[in-house]
Amino acid sequence: MDDRGIIAAVFAAPVLAAAAMWAAFSTGIAKIEPRYVVRLELAASGERIGLPPIEGPADAGRPLVVIDAGHGGHDPGASGQNGEREKDVTLALAMSLRTALLADGRVRVAMTRDTDRFLVLEERADIAHRLGADLFVSVHADAAQSVEARGATVYTLSDKASDAVAEALAARENRADSVNGVALDGRGEVVSSILVDLARREMRARSIRFGDLVVREGTSAFDFHVTPQREAAFVVLKSLDLPSALIEAGYISNQDDARKMHDPAWQKRFSGALARAIEIFLAEGRAGAVPSETEGR
Ligand SMILES: [Zn+2]
Repeated sequence: MDDRGIIAAVFAAPVLAAAAMWAAFSTGIAKIEPRYVVRLELAASGERIGLPPIEGPADAGRPLVVIDAGHGGHDPGASGQNGEREKDVTLALAMSLRTALLADGRVRVAMTRDTDRFLVLEERADIAHRLGADLFVSVHADAAQSVEARGATVYTLSDKASDAVAEALAARENRADSVNGVALDGRGEVVSSILVDLARREMRARSIRFGDLVVREGTSAFDFHVTPQREAAFVVLKSLDLPSALIEAGYISNQDDARKMHDPAWQKRFSGALARAIEIFLAEGRAGAVPSETEGR
């Protein structure tokens, strides 16, 4: 090879190498560790997402429930054995619940999402807060290592998870936000006063009361987990100053539950019972009483 040839080779080598690598990667020959780039559309600092419409009775004096379909967009949530995705189940159930509540016409309804889109957990709570909601209901589907685990569970907020299972679940549901690096835990730790504590206790009691009603109204319509009511530290419920619950409709990891949650007839029974619980709870709220059976927990 003469000098000119060497110079040409030196210049050509990186180009050829790049071309060869490109060819190798694009034909899938090169076996490299998969790397994922997740691009998220985030609102600019201080910018808030638009508020969803409020549906139902025109009377603004009627109580408002915000229904939150868990996960969505790039966050599929848990997966079933046959490729079912939690984000699809939660959206179908949330839409079914919306339909049931609007048909009854007793309360006003807003959805955090009605399409397959991603929202950070804080945005979901923020929607309820800004709309002045009376109740926040987040719909999810559970997953467990044991395929035997089945049935619905109602979770309400606690500072400490009630057991290891609840803690693991809260960790999984909260993970959606770590992707964005959004610090959500900074709130609430600064302020510590008796008033805040009292407000928290009242919210906790009212949330548990709502959980009682979900189990009471739901028992004849669908199956619950052996421990139907639990408390856990869910980020999505943490920043709310209103009664709230996170309902795991069933276990997507259980084939029977996964099939049921996709069945429109089951969805209708689920949402009908949930709608009754919501309406009773909000009617009680109007009457201004927390029944004494929930006190002392
Ligand atoms: Zn979930």
